[in-house]
Amino acid sequence: MSGGSGDSFVIAIDGPAASGKSSTAQWVADELQFLHVDSGALYRAATALAVRELGAADSWEEARVVELASDVTLVPGKTSFEPRIRGEAAEEEIRGADVTKCVSRVAQMPAVRAWVNEQVRRAAVGHSVVVDGRDIGTVVFPEADLKIFLVADPWERARRRLTQRLGRRPAEAEIAEETERLVQRDAKDATQTVQARDAVLLDTTYLTQAEQVERIVALARAVASSSRIVEVEDEGSRRVRSYRPA
Ligand code: C5P
Repeated sequence: MSGGSGDSFVIAIDGPAASGKSSTAQWVADELQFLHVDSGALYRAATALAVRELGAADSWEEARVVELASDVTLVPGKTSFEPRIRGEAAEEEIRGADVTKCVSRVAQMPAVRAWVNEQVRRAAVGHSVVVDGRDIGTVVFPEADLKIFLVADPWERARRRLTQRLGRRPAEAEIAEETERLVQRDAKDATQTVQARDAVLLDTTYLTQAEQVERIVALARAVASSSRIVEVEDEGSRRVRSYRPA
């Protein structure tokens, strides 16, 4: 039943932009003492390097972008894997507007997709993980133990994103503008944003984040209890749990 390598337990959370995948995935990982892997952060880190080094985005060549991507490493922390650019954390840079504007272009490059998939699969070797992205349940871990596809109304996604970014209640006009940006990014990412046939669809429009997390954790526990824990091992402060079908 292992979705990753060895006996690690893999939860895949896919869905469109700003559907709350990353924060939900991190929370679920914390509840289960798994590690969170944000695959979008790798696309963003590769894009950040291209923004730094390659000038106008319409001239970016796939071979050059993937070469730059080799300067990105995915480093395990206490609760998540974090991308580093040339050894440095770059969270603010990878979440910035320049990167967000260009990331879908980079994510269309097959060699970049292969590079991201390899990093993510490697992270799951020996670690139980919650991985979020667009194609985790379909391409990266088609055998994941649990697959969730998170959706929410675009206006609500925009409202949540702005509230988080601005730290205040956004105005209607701001939400409208952000909704348009999100819908455009959804269209650019549509080919790779695919709900796996065996994914559980979770519409979070009317759910709090705590409710989303509770549902996913309950599903994970249900899957795990239909299986047998074969190994619980201390690795420093972290526990690695492994499961096999009963
Ligand atoms: O999740 P986030 O919005 O940070 O992802 C940034 C971009 O990375 C997405 O807009 C998409 O183009 C790309 N992506 C992808 N496949 C994934 C994760 C992200 O194509 N599994």
